Amino acid sequence: MPPIFELDALPAMDVPGRLPRLRERLGAAGCDALLVTKQENLRYLTGFTGSAGMLLVAPASTLLVTDGRYRDQAAEQVAAVGVVAELEVSGPKGQLEALAAAARGLGRIGLEASSITWGLQLRLVEVFDRSSLVATRGLVEALRAVKDDGERARIEAACDVADVAIAQVKQRLSEGCTEAEFASELEAEMRRRGSSGPSFETIVASGPNSAMPHARPSERVIGEGELVVVDFGATVDGYRSDMTRTFCVGTLEADLAQLVDAVFAAQRAGLRAVAEGVTGGDVDAACREVLTEAGYGAEFLHSTGHGVGLEIHEAPAVSQGSADILAAGTVVTVEPGAYLAGKGGVRIEDTVLVGTSGGRPLTKSTKDYTL
Ligand code: ZN
Ligand code: ZN
Repeated sequence: MPPIFELDALPAMDVPGRLPRLRERLGAAGCDALLVTKQENLRYLTGFTGSAGMLLVAPASTLLVTDGRYRDQAAEQVAAVGVVAELEVSGPKGQLEALAAAARGLGRIGLEASSITWGLQLRLVEVFDRSSLVATRGLVEALRAVKDDGERARIEAACDVADVAIAQVKQRLSEGCTEAEFASELEAEMRRRGSSGPSFETIVASGPNSAMPHARPSERVIGEGELVVVDFGATVDGYRSDMTRTFCVGTLEADLAQLVDAVFAAQRAGLRAVAEGVTGGDVDAACREVLTEAGYGAEFLHSTGHGVGLEIHEAPAVSQGSADILAAGTVVTVEPGAYLAGKGGVRIEDTVLVGTSGGRPLTKSTKDYTL
């Protein structure tokens, strides 16, 4: 089966517009420049997809440093998206020397506090010895939260791939396969449909395993009357999708059927609560209230959701008390669940685009749990 989309046909992303937007925010964050060390942020700002590199964003210059493995790739990728940056390709020492030279005259250099090792930070104190270092948090991540048309199209394509793949393979759940076999068939089908790889480690959890929200697929054979939680996603040009469906092979016992109904109702309430300008905490509360009223408040063991994009978990947080605002253009998940230890669990999750007239689920697979 061929891929269901053509990457070249998707709208382009506005990569060159990102560095200016970041520069506008540096002053408020207390710095004159930012050293980007988180690879997803580096990719977002420059188009460079290598696994190692640093980016110094100064007021009037941009320097990307990386090692020899990426000599050609870095130059090609940065040019391809229309970003202008100086490029230094050398070993660790040469990279630090280039950064030191570019930092001359900069008073305050921001570091990404959540994604830098203690070891590198100690080195940078020496390298930037004439500047003061400032801890920053979530500067690029805040920009990344609101997706442009090209990003939305990639996430939507990743959601479509997941929808097509699960419809294609879900019948296998009733044919006596193991959790691990089903996970690998689902991942293979997503690849055939255009995914570059699973967006995170696929979860297939059956029977008592389904009561563990992040169980790993095991050699357990999926049996009759059991709940099976399948949590998975595809990746398109670095952008991810995230969806959970819960299935049942055969007929469910009454207490598990009741659990399913409660989680479905909670998820509908969560989807209704998604709107431009509400907080992540509001959406979490909408789901939590339904499950609490149904008597499963203590069995809802995790947050309601999270932002999705270049990372599977990113801003905004959709969790208890989260003050993160859902702006139009953010993409979040709504994934309440309830888990009865030793018996079974249920989770339903959609990836949702926040728009000016509410949330639009991008994952569209049926929620009918029968097979
Ligand atoms: Zn998920
Ligand atoms: Zn999720």
